[in-house]
Amino acid sequence: MSTLPSEGALNRLRGELSPAGIRIVAVSKTQAPERIRILYDQGQRDFGENYVQELLAKQPLLPEDIRWHFIGHLQSKKVRSIAPFISVIHAVDSLHLLEEIQSQGSRLGRVIDCLLQVHISREETKFGLDEASLFDLAQTIGSRPGDFSQARLIGLMGMATLTDDQALVREEFRKMKELLGKLQEKFFADFPWFRELSMGMSSDYSIAAKEGATLVRIGSLLFGPRD
Ligand SMILES: *Cc1c(COP(=O)(O)O)cnc(C)c1O
Repeated sequence: MSTLPSEGALNRLRGELSPAGIRIVAVSKTQAPERIRILYDQGQRDFGENYVQELLAKQPLLPEDIRWHFIGHLQSKKVRSIAPFISVIHAVDSLHLLEEIQSQGSRLGRVIDCLLQVHISREETKFGLDEASLFDLAQTIGSRPGDFSQARLIGLMGMATLTDDQALVREEFRKMKELLGKLQEKFFADFPWFRELSMGMSSDYSIAAKEGATLVRIGSLLFGPRD
C-alpha cells in the first residue's frame, strides 16, 4: 500500500498555480478510486486518465461532477465509450479522430473540448503532430468551423523531453506558446476559446507555468510514485 495523496502537495501546487489561473489536472492513472476520492474531498475536480478501460471502470464509482480529462493516445473506435461523460480530450492527433469526437458529441448533444497534441520533444514517438501536420490540420479545422460544433478545439497539448536540461525544456514549452499564438492568428482568430496550453507534469510544471501553461497534468507529485 502506497502513501495517501498528501493534502500539503495539493495546497502547495494551488498556491503556486491558482494566482496565475492555471488549472491543475490530477493525473489519476493506476490510482484506486479511494485515493482519487481523497483529492476530490480536498476540492479537486479535474482528473486525468490515460487508458479507456481503466477510466470506464473508475468513472461510475466516483462523483458525477468530476471533470474527466483523457490525456493518453485515443483510438477513434474507443471515443464512443467515453463520449457520454468525458470533459476534455488532450491528445487529438488526426482529423479522423476529431471527426469521430464530433460525431459522438453530436449523437449525444454534448460539446467535448479537445486539444491538438504537438510533438515538441527530442524523443522519438509515434504520437503528436509535427509542425507541418499541425498547421495542415489547424487550417482544415479553421476553415470548417461549423463541422466541429461538438468537438470544440480549445488549444494545444505537449510533452517536453524528459531531461535535467531545464533550458531545453523551457525552449520546448516556449515553442508551444509560439505555435499557439501563430495558430490563433492564422486560423482561429474567431475562436476565443482556442487559448489553452496543456503542458507540464510533476517534474517540469514550474517551467511550464512560467512559459504560459493554462493546464498542468500532475500525477506523482500529488499521489506519490506510481507502482
Ligand atoms: C502520466 C502522465 C502525466 C503525469 O505524470 P507525472 O510525472 O506523474 O506528473 C502527465 N501527462 C501525461 C500525458 C501522462 O501520461
